[in-house]
Amino acid sequence: MENKQAPPPGFVPPPPYTAGPPHAAPPGPAVFMVQHVALGPESQRMSCPHCHADISTRVETQSNTKTHLFALLLCLIGCWPCAPCPYCMDSCLAKKHYCPACNAYIGQHEN
Ligand SMILES: [Zn+2]
Repeated sequence: MENKQAPPPGFVPPPPYTAGPPHAAPPGPAVFMVQHVALGPESQRMSCPHCHADISTRVETQSNTKTHLFALLLCLIGCWPCAPCPYCMDSCLAKKHYCPACNAYIGQHEN
């Protein structure tokens, strides 16, 4: 964007482009450094990638798409009384790991 021609009379050249602070990522907590640790269904001891505390993850069991699909499938095949079963079966539920210190979501285990 350099104009090599002499500016016309009366032309005030704009100040050199001084962008604000360069948007370089500060060497702070690098979120992209979060590794996809293999999380099991149980609470795991690890270093929290967010607050770096030595923690045992808090596991919350939550239904996911697969759970709903199973329930729907049971309805479709006529086992609708069993439809809530997937919501009680660990193998159909996702285990979400959270940091008990900062409540950050760490990852989840799916069967
Ligand atoms: Zn944490």
